[in-house]
Amino acid sequence: MTPAEKERYSRQIAFRGIGETGQNKIRNASVCVVGCGALGSFQAEALARAGVGRLRLVDRDYVDYTNLQRQWLYDETDARNESPKAVAAAQRIHRLNQQVDVEPVVTDLNPSNAEELVAGFDLILDGSDNFETRYLLNDLSVKLKMPWIYGAAVSSYGIVMPIVPQEGPCLACVYPERPAGVQPTCDVNGVLASTTAGVAALQVAIALRLLVGWADFKCRIHTLDVWEGTSRQVDAGERDSKCPVCEMRQFRYLEGQRRAPVSLCGRNAVQLHESTRPLDLHELALRLRPLGVVRVNEFALRMTMPKYDLTFFPDGRAIVKGTTDVGVARGLYARLIGA
Ligand SMILES: [Zn+2]
Repeated sequence: MTPAEKERYSRQIAFRGIGETGQNKIRNASVCVVGCGALGSFQAEALARAGVGRLRLVDRDYVDYTNLQRQWLYDETDARNESPKAVAAAQRIHRLNQQVDVEPVVTDLNPSNAEELVAGFDLILDGSDNFETRYLLNDLSVKLKMPWIYGAAVSSYGIVMPIVPQEGPCLACVYPERPAGVQPTCDVNGVLASTTAGVAALQVAIALRLLVGWADFKCRIHTLDVWEGTSRQVDAGERDSKCPVCEMRQFRYLEGQRRAPVSLCGRNAVQLHESTRPLDLHELALRLRPLGVVRVNEFALRMTMPKYDLTFFPDGRAIVKGTTDVGVARGLYARLIGA
């Protein structure tokens, strides 16, 4: 470490959990941040400031004005230009810390590219907003023996869980299936910047501890409510001896078996053949009305948004008009229904 580096990171080096040895490990470490929304942008900034040597930022989305309330790194110019989040984040990180090798990747992490995107990194940080991606990250983590840190935030509530394959339970040990039915989402239920920042800050602290070497790792599930001012930590327990992922090594998300199939329909529309998420259309109408023009009958719910037209069916299926991009269609479904 150069004298300038020792000076720059002196407060972190002075912290007994890190020291000079730890700082050297952080400098030589690499982290893949999946999703650069409220969680991922905070994680990326904090890791860059901490001096993590190499970052890859994966996100397919573009900055808009609704992001600025809670998504660090982005500003009004990014929103006006609809800059890709990964690119805008990388540019800002480059200004924050030129020593960090930061690589933006503007894409949707999915079963066909996931392994390639994360291979070779020391750790994965979850900045995603849907369970399909999280179970995919869990498959990857177990398959490639890479730790990942699950984090989620909605409204004033957040949760964090670190997964270190073989040393503790995986996501599927604790939550065998993703939540069913309509789920709270940030688009519908709102979210405070304090919630996402709190979750992301905890994820980053755990990431740094793992990167410097966490000898007696213990998996705890952290939950917090920033509005109520409460937080809880529970022991995640032992690995499930029947876990399909970390015991039987069945990687159903990575193999694409758990993705709702999609098809292009019409000239400018995508159909999501989600069939395991029955929807109560009248309840859904009440939930979605603040976000667009909603018409509903017993067979279908139609919602008109500025750029897209969505139709939902009682079995969970949906047609998204206004795009041929499967990632956009899946993203809208995740943001409105849950994922
Ligand atoms: Zn498991």
